[in-house]
Amino acid sequence: MSIQSNLNTIRESLPEQITLVAVSKTKPVSDLMEAYEAGQRIFGENKIQEMTDKWEQMPKDIQWHMIGHVQSNKVKFMAPFVNLIHGVDSLKLLQEINKQALKNNRTIDCLLQIYIAEEESKFGLDENELNELLTSVEFKELKNIRILGLMGMATFTEDQNQIKKEFTHLKSIFDSIKTQETSNCQLNTISMGMSGDYQLAIECGSTMVRIGSSIFGGR
Ligand SMILES: *Cc1c(COP(=O)(O)O)cnc(C)c1O
Repeated sequence: MSIQSNLNTIRESLPEQITLVAVSKTKPVSDLMEAYEAGQRIFGENKIQEMTDKWEQMPKDIQWHMIGHVQSNKVKFMAPFVNLIHGVDSLKLLQEINKQALKNNRTIDCLLQIYIAEEESKFGLDENELNELLTSVEFKELKNIRILGLMGMATFTEDQNQIKKEFTHLKSIFDSIKTQETSNCQLNTISMGMSGDYQLAIECGSTMVRIGSSIFGGR
């Protein structure tokens, strides 16, 4: 199957209001261009260096999403162009993003990553840490970032009930912080669902799915 037909099949299966992030990590620019020519404009990468290289080579109307774990010392490389950072999991990282955004005279949109899986290896804040962050004085001072919502990854398992429980948990946390909106926190996005579980994620309230292998093939 071609990238174009994979993309079309997925688009047809997505409700209209769902945003599709085409996860292109490890794939060559020629593959991304195929998706671009099929109309895709949002791409997700998990390494800052790789995303920056691709940004330099590709058309400038693309929105680049950083979906991987972010190291503070590399934020500066993507600050001039990144459109949405999904994996923010600390105040310290937010402060660095704010600083680099200010240097570039922009506001950078972010999602806070929430730990919902039963796997030690996954990153993210728990509910208490999230509330602590959102209510802190330090957070309210950040004028060059904007929190648009939450991101989560379910446990890697075949157990649909387990995955559903985790997605439902993320949605309930999202609903619980809706009342905490401030000028730098305007909540409209729940980023959950990948190739294997995006349909379930949408049933559970996802507004943004991150799909890689079902578009570009295995890695
Ligand atoms: C790789 C990746 C995806 C896409 O995974 P697929 O199973 O290939 O669709 C989505 N989200 C994150 C955070 C990823 O690292």
